Amino acid sequence: MSNKPTIEEYLKNIEERMFKAYRCVDCGSLMAIPSGSCYECGSNNIDWAEVSGKGKLISFTVIHVAPDEFAEETPYYVAIIELDEGPRVSARLLGFDPLKPEEVTLGIPVILDYEKGKSGKTYLAFKPA
Ligand SMILES: [Zn+2]
Repeated sequence: MSNKPTIEEYLKNIEERMFKAYRCVDCGSLMAIPSGSCYECGSNNIDWAEVSGKGKLISFTVIHVAPDEFAEETPYYVAIIELDEGPRVSARLLGFDPLKPEEVTLGIPVILDYEKGKSGKTYLAFKPA
């Protein structure tokens, strides 16, 4: 496989606001986080997969104390999103006040977005749909 997805490309896609998931060529299962092999069948025959960018909020946490790289950005949300296509991904959650987590409702529909951090890096993020 010459076109096998790499973590570098995965991150570059996010930087370019063109997030893609992974698909196992052998069994068709989808993965939204970088992995060298399929969670379902163990195959390492992985290719890129386009996703709709739609999903729902499964869980979230507010980060108050972050590594140096993100310290300036606190507080912020990190959420687990289940994509409509099935796989789950960890991403920032936008559109809510990080000081009012009681206003965030689990299960709400969310849509893919991106956030440019103070570090200049672009992060995968989701916002209410
Ligand atoms: Zn597989």
